[in-house]
Amino acid sequence: MRVSQLFAPTLRETPAEAEVVSHKLMLRAGLIRKAAGGVYSYLPLAWRVLKKIETIVREEMDAKGGQELSMPIIQPAEMWQETGRWSVYGDEMFRLKDRHNRNFCLGPTHEEMITTIVRGDVRSYRQLPLMLYQIQNKYRDEIRPRFGLMRGREFIMKDAYSFDRDEAGLDVNYNKMYDAYTRVFNRCGLTFRAVEADSGAIGGSGSHEFMVIADSGEAGIVYCGDCDYAANVEKAELHPISAPAEERLPLTEKDTPDMKSISEVSHYLEVSPEKTIKTLAFRTDTGAVVLALVRGDHEVNEIKLLNKVGCIQLEMANEEAISNVIGSQAGYIGPVGIESSKDIIIVADTSVMNMHNAVCGANKKDTHYINVNPLRDFTPSTVTDIRLIQANDPCPRCGAPVKTARGIEVGQVFKLFTKYSTSLQATFIDDGGKEKPMVMGCYGIGVSRTMAAAIEQNNDENGIIWPVPIAPFHAIVIPISNKDQAQMALAEKIYNELNEAGFEALFDDRNERPGVKFKDADLIGYPIKITIGPKAIDEDQIEVKARRTGETFYFNHEEYVKGIR
Ligand code: ATP
Ligand code: MG
Ligand code: MG
Ligand code: MG
Repeated sequence: MRVSQLFAPTLRETPAEAEVVSHKLMLRAGLIRKAAGGVYSYLPLAWRVLKKIETIVREEMDAKGGQELSMPIIQPAEMWQETGRWSVYGDEMFRLKDRHNRNFCLGPTHEEMITTIVRGDVRSYRQLPLMLYQIQNKYRDEIRPRFGLMRGREFIMKDAYSFDRDEAGLDVNYNKMYDAYTRVFNRCGLTFRAVEADSGAIGGSGSHEFMVIADSGEAGIVYCGDCDYAANVEKAELHPISAPAEERLPLTEKDTPDMKSISEVSHYLEVSPEKTIKTLAFRTDTGAVVLALVRGDHEVNEIKLLNKVGCIQLEMANEEAISNVIGSQAGYIGPVGIESSKDIIIVADTSVMNMHNAVCGANKKDTHYINVNPLRDFTPSTVTDIRLIQANDPCPRCGAPVKTARGIEVGQVFKLFTKYSTSLQATFIDDGGKEKPMVMGCYGIGVSRTMAAAIEQNNDENGIIWPVPIAPFHAIVIPISNKDQAQMALAEKIYNELNEAGFEALFDDRNERPGVKFKDADLIGYPIKITIGPKAIDEDQIEVKARRTGETFYFNHEEYVKGIR
């Protein structure tokens, strides 16, 4: 490809809207352009990178027996109503109606769809296990789409689903996927860590997140330098490892409710005709009644909040103390009493920030709790003694001081067990003739987020430094002077030879000053830059520069291909 024909519109200035480095560099290097908040076009260079990441993902999925398929993005409401997630998903779900007024959504994930497919066609244990996956756009109307591709509202995900006869089978598939993910992120050239994650409503020990280590990461992680303990902060705090016994929070792990019981006690509270707030209530072993209100959002976060709440002394809460615990995920939390004023608290997502008003008695449209009277039904108070996990706290496994870091969640593996197969009746007949629900797992990789994470981890003041396996092109050949026929001819010859040798090379044939070409090459971040100037012509010394190390090598025309390898 000749750069004169390449559509890679680079920018000299950093667009004001970009906060993190990957977003800035993707705009400046001509990789993406914004259509709307969290919705981007991928320009040709980005598309090449995404295809390479997808190829790596595909190869590793196939190597583990995964079979690729493609499911619709438009999903009918009915299957989501069967699992109850039509209402639980809340505002994060993009919803639409067809001309007959039927409800649909744009798929934020595909558990309902895949389970519906499999239940129709899998009857016998002989048809199991199955591992099915797709790579496709997903749609989530994130409250705060930001950081470019990092938190989009339309983004590319690889989602895989396993179906097994029993939990032993699920373990095998889960471990295969864990291994595949490790291989994928290694092959992409990323520094990452797999951490234990809260498996939320599902219970059990069955989830890991794959975190690319980067200061801009939205997730906190805790890990041990001595043993292999690593967890996200939420999970680590569920097992309070930090505080000495006497400092420990009065509620114990036992007080964290059995997550399965939560759905049984959950009910809905109408906030206004258009806005339903999901209410989850449970009673802890100490008898405290905990009420968490979350506007139908993402299921996992909801449970995370609950878990955390379950781990703190609930008697008293104030907004500041609790938002310290919950971090950025909750905008408002306050205590409310319904039975007895001190035992019940409210957790609300930022999307219901204005509930603050409601709780404080404001009677604004859309923000009023029906049948909840602030002051009559609750009194505010404060949380005492909250101890968050900190660096150097003892590792729960070996006691060595733990370390903390920030991470970008690029993937997650999750044991679903029979959550969806039960609600959607995906059953099979086992070898003893008994009907059983299939045992499922789900496994996601954020493909477009992985591209952004790669840039977060690989850049300098001049631009992107692509890891070779996902670079849009491997090398660029730059003649110093377009007017010099000999330079142009040699540059073109080298460009052709490189492509023949299996490299993806570019030829910067633009009639631009060399400085402009070098700046663009560094900004876009091709791993290898080959400069053809007088030295190449007069002395047969071809200059090869490595983007990552900045090292310069000289090779003659017979050796440079080998030299680059
Ligand atoms: P997050 O905690 O960042 O909101 P999630 O846990 O909701 O992510 P999953 O449902 O586990 O995401 O989806 C699988 C993968 O899809 C994630 O690990 C992440 O890499 C990617 N992903 C999720 N949401 C987004 C988004 N809004 N933009 C880009 N990638 C995303
Ligand atoms: Mg999310
Ligand atoms: Mg997450
Ligand atoms: Mg996740």
